[in-house]
Amino acid sequence: MADEQRSPAPRTVLVTGGNRGIGRAIAQAFRDGGDNVAVTYRSGEAPEGFFAVQADVTDAASIDAAYKAVEAEFGPVEVVVANAGITRDTLLLRMKEQDFQDVVDTNLTGAFRVVQRAAKGFMRLKRGRVVLISSVVGLYGSPGQVNYAASKAGLVGMARSITRELGGRNVTANVVAPGFINTEMTAALPEDTQQNYLASIPAGRFAEPAEVAAVVRWVASDEAKYISGAVIPVDGGLGMGH
Ligand code: NDP
Repeated sequence: MADEQRSPAPRTVLVTGGNRGIGRAIAQAFRDGGDNVAVTYRSGEAPEGFFAVQADVTDAASIDAAYKAVEAEFGPVEVVVANAGITRDTLLLRMKEQDFQDVVDTNLTGAFRVVQRAAKGFMRLKRGRVVLISSVVGLYGSPGQVNYAASKAGLVGMARSITRELGGRNVTANVVAPGFINTEMTAALPEDTQQNYLASIPAGRFAEPAEVAAVVRWVASDEAKYISGAVIPVDGGLGMGH
């Protein structure tokens, strides 16, 4: 590889929804690897020890302001992890159009807003890494999650289209698809739903956020520079073949 293609360390990494759960673990993993890490948070507290900016992924102006703050602190963003996400679970026949739109606006359109803003900087930097946090449910499906699954499947088309547009400009875009990870999002699920999932996971356990974070950090690393448009499961085998 030519020297000019090497990423100078530390890189500027932005993780949306980095104040808790999987996003927080991802931020920690990049920081442990020596990168300058900024996180966004929305409603909660700014996480201690990280450069944090308040931002709502449903609002393009708020995303732009967040990028400006991060660029002023660390310089242009080279790695962006679109992690912020919500659920509004209910069965199809009961799902309100608003439940569908809210989930898509956060999980899919939100990722678009975050990644499009990053791509402008990538063109100037002449490199960039996009990691979209999807879900096993995006390709496997899940009762009660028509909105969520559709939003997460959409991220696959997004990463692959970014790859086709910008793959020749030293930009990679990949999807990481977690299975059942121990966070506040999954703790909110009813006990019988949790037990049903557990029974269908070949690994026989749920995972911790750090197990997802390690994969995200790796796919954004120089070692993985020839991987783009991939969907990488971190699900203990739950979604095999999907
Ligand atoms: P949490 O519910 O613990 O955290 C969600 C994060 O997203 C929070 O930081 C939250 O910010 C942020 N967020 C939500 N809406 C917005 C918004 N409009 N603008 C900005 N930030 C927002 O979720 P997890 O850590 O469990 O999940 C993280 C990602 O991983 C999500 O995309 C989720 O879909 C995905 N995932 C999770 C799985 C799991 O088993 N936990 C499995 C598969 C995928 P705030 O705290 O301020 O509300």
